[in-house]
Amino acid sequence: MKDSYGRDINYLRISVTDLCNLRCKYCIPKDGIEKIDYSEVLTFEEIEQITKTFVELGVKKVRITGGEPLVRKDILNLIKKIGSISGIEDFAITTNGTLLKEYAKELKESGVNRLNISLDTLDPKKYRDITRGGDLKEVINGIEEALKLGIYPIKINVVLAKGFNDDEIEKLVNITKNNNVEIRFIELMPIGQCKEWSLGKFMPNTIVLDKVKELKEVPREDKSSPAKYYKLPNSKGKIGLISPISCKFCENCNRVRLTCDGKLKLCLHSNEELDLKTPLRRGQDIKELILNEINKKPETHNLEDGEYIGRNMVEIGG
Ligand code: SAM
Repeated sequence: MKDSYGRDINYLRISVTDLCNLRCKYCIPKDGIEKIDYSEVLTFEEIEQITKTFVELGVKKVRITGGEPLVRKDILNLIKKIGSISGIEDFAITTNGTLLKEYAKELKESGVNRLNISLDTLDPKKYRDITRGGDLKEVINGIEEALKLGIYPIKINVVLAKGFNDDEIEKLVNITKNNNVEIRFIELMPIGQCKEWSLGKFMPNTIVLDKVKELKEVPREDKSSPAKYYKLPNSKGKIGLISPISCKFCENCNRVRLTCDGKLKLCLHSNEELDLKTPLRRGQDIKELILNEINKKPETHNLEDGEYIGRNMVEIGG
């Protein structure tokens, strides 16, 4: 499926819940968010139906996200359903890793072939602070389990925040020396109700290259990937830099997002959404709606200066 700028839209990111077992300060407000009424949340059957429609339209890559996807009741049943849709060549999940130790094996068996795990610090106290109560050990156990099972690639997403983890950049980069994992530094985005927390903490990703001079750029395998890649000499793993703020990557954007309440988002940095749930529940064919909507995918981020995305990241899925 091509958009009006000729970009091939072949990647669907599905948020399966707005609930999360952590309260990361840049992602979710302290008191949580107003919960979406359960009746408004897409059922597994609806998610499956929408995914199949997207696959018929040319989607080949699907990522499950949240909230925290692993807290959704019976999530493995959904993962199995999606994992068995023929036409999906790449099936990934983004998780905070806290429940991964218990789920990793079944995720692998259900066809998940990529894992992105969010981890912003290696210090248990700082982890507890940034996540408002999380236990770092759970995430480390989850990552170790996934490595033991041979899940590859494992990408660890680190959101950079000034005064919080700039002093850990070298330590995080050094993980890739002996482990075949990808550490991906992501620029902090001021978004939703957490935008105030983020202001003043932004650091451009170039700080990673300033701090670790031995990093050398390597070619990216997937041209639609938003990351630029680097390696330490002789390292097993690599470093990815994702710079949505300092450097846009809209030209090769191949993705659209589905929120857990059935809204199609064409661009993370836009407040525009199309409701797919209501027409689906009315028995309408959503294929035409999607095809029409795809043509409206903006060429590039179109928020005016000083304007922010309304939804919190926990409601979009990253
Ligand atoms: N719960 C899962 C997790 O923790 O990975 C999936 C959802 S989370 C919203 C997806 C990704 O968005 C995480 O890697 C998180 O760090 C990132 N994220 C959330 N808020 C962000 C922000 N304000 N700026 C940059 N990345 C953000």
